[in-house]
Amino acid sequence: MRPLIAGNWKMNGLSSALAEIEAVARIASETKPPADILICPPATLIARAAAAARGRIAIGGQDCHAEKSGAFTGDISAEMLKDAGASAVILGHSERRQYHGETDAEVAAKTNAAWRAGLAAIVCVGETEAQRDEGDALNIVAGQIAASLPKGATPANTALAYEPVWAIGTGRTPTLAEIAQMHAHIRKCLGGGAIRILYGGSVKPANAAEILAVAEVAGALVGGASLNAKDFHAIFSTVHAKA
Ligand code: PEP
Repeated sequence: MRPLIAGNWKMNGLSSALAEIEAVARIASETKPPADILICPPATLIARAAAAARGRIAIGGQDCHAEKSGAFTGDISAEMLKDAGASAVILGHSERRQYHGETDAEVAAKTNAAWRAGLAAIVCVGETEAQRDEGDALNIVAGQIAASLPKGATPANTALAYEPVWAIGTGRTPTLAEIAQMHAHIRKCLGGGAIRILYGGSVKPANAAEILAVAEVAGALVGGASLNAKDFHAIFSTVHAKA
């Protein structure tokens, strides 16, 4: 299973940030990490990011609408992302669930839309701190997977990202044992198979190697540390060290 190291730029990045994508693409082509490298910039940069990447790394979106086209002001379809040069899209990120009220059913519809357009879906799940404190983390994640991942997921069209909400952007991470427990649980929920299960939540150069070495962790979804090429490279270079 080839790991996937994916960067989520969120609502960050103007034209000047394309230099970071050029740098990551150059480093990736020189160092040939044994992992797929993906950067998901804001939608405004996707076409130029894809040009800057020159096929050396993949470019993705951060969300899409479930419909192909229509009267949905401000929304972007999976087909539009594909047309702009994306090959993947993050769906159901906790910030979309929290700030835009996205439900599991909507995430499932968006996942079907991504597949329809020929994009790989990176479907995000994860518990809040209160849910973990109540001992509910495993159940919450199982429920999210059951309801947000439609039938038809394959290793080629889907990755599952486990992102504990309380670890995103906070500098806090679960213990390695907690990550191992959740990833084993997710594999069971998926009924086995080879769909990549990524860990996300405060992955940094300093902790990437130990997290990526955990069983069933087949990559990372990286927020803040993906914004500059140096840190992002420091993270994906640890996949090399592991291999
Ligand atoms: C994310 O946004 O998916 C994320 C994991 O962010 P960070 O790495 O900044 O915690």
